[in-house]
Amino acid sequence: MGEGRAWLLVGNIAAMDVDQLGPDAFADLRRVVDGRWADVRAAVREQLPPEWCRPVGDLDREAQRAVTLERAKVLAGWDLPRRGFEKAYGGEDDIGGSMTLYEMLGLVDLSLMVKAGVQWGLFGGALQALGTRKHHERYLPQMMTLELPGCFAMTESGHGSDVQSLRTTATYDVERQDFVICTPDDDARKDYIGNAARDGRIAVVFAQLVTQGESHGVHAVLVPIRDERGEPCPGVRIEDCGHKGGLNGVDNGRIWFDDVRVPRDALLDRYGQVAADGTYSSPVESRSQRFFTMLGALVRGRVSVGGAAAAAAQASLAIAVEHGENRTQFARPGSDGEVTVLDYLAHQRRLLPALATSYALHFAQGELTSDLHDVQTGGTDDDARQRELESRAAGLKAISTWHATATIQGCREACGGAGYLSVNRLVQLKADSDVFTTFEGDNTVLMQLVAKSMLTSYRDHFGELDTMGTVRFLADQVVETVLEKTSARGLVDRLAAAAPGRDDDVNLLDRDWQRELFEWRESHVVAGLARRLRRAAKGDGADMFEAVNRVQAHSLRAAHAHVHRLVLEAFSAAIDRCDDEDAKALLGRVCDLYVLAEVESDRGWFLEHGRLTPALAKAVGRAVDDLCRDLRPHARTLVAGLGIPKEWLAAEVAKAGSS
Ligand SMILES: Cc1cc2nc3c(=O)[nH]c(=O)nc-3n(C[C@H](O)[C@H](O)[C@H](O)COP(=O)(O)OP(=O)(O)OC[C@H]3O[C@@H](n4cnc5c(N)ncnc54)[C@H](O)[C@@H]3O)c2cc1C
Repeated sequence: MGEGRAWLLVGNIAAMDVDQLGPDAFADLRRVVDGRWADVRAAVREQLPPEWCRPVGDLDREAQRAVTLERAKVLAGWDLPRRGFEKAYGGEDDIGGSMTLYEMLGLVDLSLMVKAGVQWGLFGGALQALGTRKHHERYLPQMMTLELPGCFAMTESGHGSDVQSLRTTATYDVERQDFVICTPDDDARKDYIGNAARDGRIAVVFAQLVTQGESHGVHAVLVPIRDERGEPCPGVRIEDCGHKGGLNGVDNGRIWFDDVRVPRDALLDRYGQVAADGTYSSPVESRSQRFFTMLGALVRGRVSVGGAAAAAAQASLAIAVEHGENRTQFARPGSDGEVTVLDYLAHQRRLLPALATSYALHFAQGELTSDLHDVQTGGTDDDARQRELESRAAGLKAISTWHATATIQGCREACGGAGYLSVNRLVQLKADSDVFTTFEGDNTVLMQLVAKSMLTSYRDHFGELDTMGTVRFLADQVVETVLEKTSARGLVDRLAAAAPGRDDDVNLLDRDWQRELFEWRESHVVAGLARRLRRAAKGDGADMFEAVNRVQAHSLRAAHAHVHRLVLEAFSAAIDRCDDEDAKALLGRVCDLYVLAEVESDRGWFLEHGRLTPALAKAVGRAVDDLCRDLRPHARTLVAGLGIPKEWLAAEVAKAGSS
């Protein structure tokens, strides 16, 4: 038994006949990868000029912004950006189609993706989701055509993640029947706002709504910021955020409001209305629930950002794999030739697990998009489904953007010095995708939301929960539920069964075993989290903030385990959708690599918890090596399977024959 195949000892691997996919198998793979919105993908591939993929870092900032705006105008001329809006206003009610467009733009030009995301996703999305008919009729048509460029002005210099603490105010003046928008000090200026520094004419401003002397929490108000000539409106001060680490085609800016007056109907009043006499009313009684409902209505932004980042990782992998196939280095002993760098195991290790994870995230993104579409077009108010969707969108956004950051850096290094030249695109992809881990919700904060939603049922309980309330709530009620649920599923058995040695006879490629392992990790971490919170909350005079703070690392781990379990489920379902046996076998092997690379990266935890024995942990590492070797001949096929047009790679190193 060769050392490299020692993991065969722990199971039998079904033979995989995927040497080269035939045309039918490849077509089947492409069908499954393109998924439900294959028509949108095909339209974008056909319509989008390949030169949009070329790096523009040589241009100065103003020129980059001009290029991005021009491209956005071209996009506005297509039917694609308007797809996500209501038919009544020229849209197509095709939310999944619009999400797929943003994802495709992630393969091409991230400044354009963000500019489009601000206009049609955030600004347009807020109008649609938080506004009512009068706003839709008046603004949606001009918003869709880009005649009315807008901003989504939520973040302030002082508060980014903690949106509930924003300090801009919108105070109703009953005498004049209008709102007065005010920035109390520099800490409350709107900051980083896309479209603000140059092009935006109006902004959806998030502010504390005050009427009849009472504050009703954060609401959104439409505030014109520039006139027809592009000059700031009276009382509005705008400053450019200046040069950024990337995304310099987007004009981010700061905005101050000095008692700016807007009419009463400027309030986007779907979730909160102010009558002429200043009386406040809302269909959602609890202030905190109202806030989360409003934010939840904006879930599309997170879905599109995660998808675009994952696409940027795919584009980078396509470039790096092509380079790895073309580049040779060091003589191959016993031959005249040199070794192709992708033949080195270390090189395969850099690229192929990331490629496998890209497939996994792509399928998870497809399911998320599909569910988002169904929930938002289904016409039902299924609260539980909406909450689950929000949590999944948050988790997948975090995992996909972290994956993009790590993968693009790995691809840069895999291309050596050439990877550092702008002409090879990777440095721009790296710079532009970096901040995706921060905007549309900081990843660490999002993962805590995921953990929270794993433990709580928002629908019934997200009343006025401050930090202390949350802990008490978790301690008193949810913990019991979680423990009951997990023990009902045999928690004690599971823990007992985790004794070292238990898994020595497993087949690492058995999908059921893989699934069970991911489920076990998730339920084990969640149960542990719940227990720790309960213990902490029971202590006399326990500092409640400290209780939550002490389990933060545990919360992040719970969210990580949860998202990967969902991703694996999505991957398994995609494999089942293959009709062709060869395509199925190849995707199955890619899924194995995704799973085992994830287990390998977390093997310390599996060892600590007795779920992997040292022998099995080593076997996992060898299995990853073997899978990399097995999949190496299929690297180009797998890249082609993602459906990125060759001319979109736009990198010298990705041209055949370059070395
Ligand atoms: C290029 C760019 C474009 C943007 N576009 C827009 C836009 O168009 N509209 C808009 O409204 N906003 C926009 N933003 C703002 C963006 O959404 C915020 O930067 C983001 O929400 C994070 O907020 P923050 O910068 O205040 O960071 P903070 O919230 O201050 O976070 C700083 C650090 O603290 C950590 N942290 C915070 N809270 C916790 C916690 N409870 N537990 C553990 N760690 C924590 C975070 O993980 C992070 O590492 C943009 C930002 C950038 C950079």
